[in-house]
Amino acid sequence: MNTDFKESLKFWWRAIKTDDRLIGSPPAPSFELVADPTLAVAQITLLEIPAIEVSAAFVGEMLAHLEENFSHVCASVLSGLEYDESDVETTNFVRKALVEQIISFVNLHELFHILSGHLRDLQNQSHSEIESLSEQTLGMANSSTMLRQEDIDESYYREFEADNCGLQSMVQLPMPVETIEFLSAVEVDNGFLTQSLIECEGVPKVIGFRLIGVATWLMVRLIESKRHSAIQATFDDHPLPEARLLSCLTTLQEEYASLSAEVVDGEIQRSIEPSEEQSRQIVDFSELVLKPMMLHLPAIQNAPDLPPVTLVDLAHDMARLMFGGELNTDAGREVLRLQSMREAMESRLSKLRYYE
Ligand SMILES: [Zn+2]
Repeated sequence: MNTDFKESLKFWWRAIKTDDRLIGSPPAPSFELVADPTLAVAQITLLEIPAIEVSAAFVGEMLAHLEENFSHVCASVLSGLEYDESDVETTNFVRKALVEQIISFVNLHELFHILSGHLRDLQNQSHSEIESLSEQTLGMANSSTMLRQEDIDESYYREFEADNCGLQSMVQLPMPVETIEFLSAVEVDNGFLTQSLIECEGVPKVIGFRLIGVATWLMVRLIESKRHSAIQATFDDHPLPEARLLSCLTTLQEEYASLSAEVVDGEIQRSIEPSEEQSRQIVDFSELVLKPMMLHLPAIQNAPDLPPVTLVDLAHDMARLMFGGELNTDAGREVLRLQSMREAMESRLSKLRYYE
């Protein structure tokens, strides 16, 4: 199985650099797989050339996490298709494409921390020379001291931003090789496959979005489980892991329905009311992408004393976030709260996000 993070990073860096808003951005980051046991997931070090370091142990855990959930994952990805979930050739396609999407998610997340100026922002806010941003502590300078709610909110805002810009790239830029191979194999008469997922139609589009949705579900669960205990303790009644998942899935839904807004003269043009066609696509996303995930993927258990949150709960709040109405989950309220920070945060960060 190809777990070459370095090659994947090069692939995405080349693809992203075609964006003319990135002129003057930092040089291409270097990449290192490190064996340091104190590094739980990944971190960015801001030297002259930014360095992305991913924990070698985390890569092993990631593969194990995929295998543990593989039957659920396969059922979600292949739901409703004429493929046998026990057929080795098909499941190998799913596995390879998913590993590729997971690696893409991690790499793009880190890349957008760099490109969006998150480390610089963190330094400015803390008035200190922080040299690295770790996924474990969300880059907070000193997580052993008293954490302020405001710092944690801002850190999570940066996490959401890195996730969502990364997902947007996965949908809009040319897809990597294993994913293209899998989508070619499942392409049927009423489908249409192109280099970038957003231009695909029919079955390839649905499968492509399922792959990204499932990869996100796997990664958010795993990464959030490694969150620094000081942050988890402070956020006792804020079940943020699924807020992060909710935000990611909402972004995928917006992309599926082409609800992206654009940056015009450096200003983000907010999305307008969905057209009839876009509303139909939103329903399609719920039925074809979200529902198979809801049916097959286990709920997220945040803390032993809290009830698990299901994807059905999250799907309800996705609709409410888009069309208005009372939110049902803490995750939904959390997403809304973080969204309200956008205006203040956008004045400090690079404007890379061009959707609502
Ligand atoms: Zn991050």
